[in-house]
Amino acid sequence: MTKIDQSRLKTLVAREESRYVKERPKSQAIFDRAKASLLTGVPMAWMHRWVGPFPIFMKEASGAYLTDIDGHRYLDFCLGDTGALFGHSPQATAEAVAKQAGRGITSMLPTEDCVRVGENLARRFGLPYWQVYMTASDANKFALRVARHTTKRKLILVFDGCYHGSVDETLVNYRRDRLLAPQMFDLSPTTRVIQFNDIDALEAALSPQDVACVLCEPAMTNVGIIFPIPGYHEALRELTRRFGTLLIIDETHTICGGPAGLTGVWNLEPDILTLGKPVAGGFPAAVMGLSQPVVDRFLVGLPSEWDMGLGGTLSGNALAVAALRATLENVMTEAAFEHMIPLAERLNDGIDEIIKAAGLPWYVLRLGCRVEYRFRPTPPRNGAEAVAAYDVDLDKFVHLYFTNRGILITPFHSMMLISPQTTVEDVDRHNQVFRECIGELVG
Ligand code: PMP
Repeated sequence: MTKIDQSRLKTLVAREESRYVKERPKSQAIFDRAKASLLTGVPMAWMHRWVGPFPIFMKEASGAYLTDIDGHRYLDFCLGDTGALFGHSPQATAEAVAKQAGRGITSMLPTEDCVRVGENLARRFGLPYWQVYMTASDANKFALRVARHTTKRKLILVFDGCYHGSVDETLVNYRRDRLLAPQMFDLSPTTRVIQFNDIDALEAALSPQDVACVLCEPAMTNVGIIFPIPGYHEALRELTRRFGTLLIIDETHTICGGPAGLTGVWNLEPDILTLGKPVAGGFPAAVMGLSQPVVDRFLVGLPSEWDMGLGGTLSGNALAVAALRATLENVMTEAAFEHMIPLAERLNDGIDEIIKAAGLPWYVLRLGCRVEYRFRPTPPRNGAEAVAAYDVDLDKFVHLYFTNRGILITPFHSMMLISPQTTVEDVDRHNQVFRECIGELVG
């Protein structure tokens, strides 16, 4: 197996970093100015964590491409970390937003669009009742609240390495000081954490019958793609039912698997389903679906004003609902995935061939239209194994190399998404740059 020469890697990182800085004077100047008024110089602290000493400032984005204020044009495989999975400003969504924006943004009243949204989601995911929120974090927060009230239990169960948004009880500190804001209270009274793909641990965690819900992605994505082992979902469903625990499936990232996410592909039967990010074409909106038995149990014994605390004033506003309807009906379609998934296969196969030809001990994986490679020989089975595979310098080099050559891949991991506007030529261009990048690395 080929080994990476660490001193060569350091030299390459320094070379790419100095090119990154030299070619982006406007982004650097804005960032320096923004540091005086914005915490970390950006409107949301995550944005600071792109590669390079300062972030690229975007000018505009459309389809699979994005331009920055220094005039660089990027082929975008990050796609807003799934928020823009269906391309930047999908036409139907952008038109619906523009139209509704001039006709009332929010009123605390439903609009006619909402019934089309509910009907589409019910058909798509097989769950009868839906609610609309602003973000996937919100949807998960309220899903936990519903699950706790329904089961009259306090504890939740999540998997090591999970990320379900900024929901306190789910922020298990798996990467300790690396990723999460410090956790200021002990999570053990609210949260049980186990490794993914360990059926014995799952049975042990649920058997005391004190867990309200398991909140999980059908395949983990936030520490890299981790597929369930054969039989895992059957066991998860059987054990949750046996011990009276609700199953919440978060499809926010795994919607990359198809129009009904992995729930559709694998015929899963969640009690509650949550989905945010691309569901309104990147416009801030998220949804939560509930099964009939959950609704029947949830409604029992509620006070008359039970709806307080389940959503915010702006949730379900007219603009978000218009964006949801347009996206669900015209953008997030079977036809879109028929274009996206074969291209992701092409991307995956090209990367695989290059890794093998270079003799590198790396793997590449594909989940629907999401493709990712990591620096270890075989895919991890759980969060602990995945975190152990992090290589900060290699990540930095690869991201800088691509950025300097006009290609964006997702920060934190080497993850790429295919949009409905991404083309064969785009994929081949990525693979050509990947070949050159590896060539420089291994000599
Ligand atoms: N669920 C999953 C699986 C996610 O990956 C994320 C964010 N990456 C969220 C929920 C939260 O989404 P948001 O930050 O838009 O609230």
